Amino acid sequence: MYELEKSDKFNTKLKSCDIESCKGMCCYDGIYLLDGEEKYITAVVKRFKNFFSFLPSDYIVDGNWKNIVTGRKTEIRKYTDVSKEFPKHFNKTLCVFADNEGKCSLQKLAYSLNIHKWTFKPVGCWMHPLKISNGKIIPPPKEQKDDPDYFDKSYPGYSTYTSCGKHHSDGEMYDKVLSEEIEFIQNLPMVPYWPNLDINIDEIIEKNNELLDFININKIGIIPLRQESCPKLDIRDSNKE
Ligand code: SF4
Repeated sequence: MYELEKSDKFNTKLKSCDIESCKGMCCYDGIYLLDGEEKYITAVVKRFKNFFSFLPSDYIVDGNWKNIVTGRKTEIRKYTDVSKEFPKHFNKTLCVFADNEGKCSLQKLAYSLNIHKWTFKPVGCWMHPLKISNGKIIPPPKEQKDDPDYFDKSYPGYSTYTSCGKHHSDGEMYDKVLSEEIEFIQNLPMVPYWPNLDINIDEIIEKNNELLDFININKIGIIPLRQESCPKLDIRDSNKE
């Protein structure tokens, strides 16, 4: 089980994600994928090709962040309609899976199918602003000087500059705000979970509750459909191949 890293530097108070105001700023550079996630997301996109018709043909590409992080990641596109709090050192770009309001289409698809909201979403995305390192869950630090993605003055950090990862003195302790994410990680039999099951996308959808019986699904399972942001679509029928 992943232990939560404890330290005074993690006495961080957070505010919950508010996509209406942040417009998905944490998605500005897309996401580097874990082993198995590219194959899995590619299968999801193929299965729901009409839903994902807005994607470019190369929606997963080779990435290299300052020669520190390399690997396969989601492609990005230009995006200038950023929020007022958008950090100056972030590029004005957005992951190709995000819509123009910053909402993740992989999560919207799960809502539409009435299955667990993180079923198709890369681990690094739903965990944000938490990280996993050396078998531990690393919370976002309180001080920006401790940001794990500090590079130099031109790029002073990542999570502590995002609206949902920065310290707010009037916020709540991070382990309360992120209790769902922490509990989910701590109960996962493996990371990433769904891509490692080695079953097809239809089975993952059909058996979603059953596959999540390691968690208390009433507590952190399917969340209600949000009509205002994600109208229920009969995607399965409209995308049948
Ligand atoms: S996959 Fe979704 S959550 Fe992750 S960076 Fe792209 S839009 Fe954001």
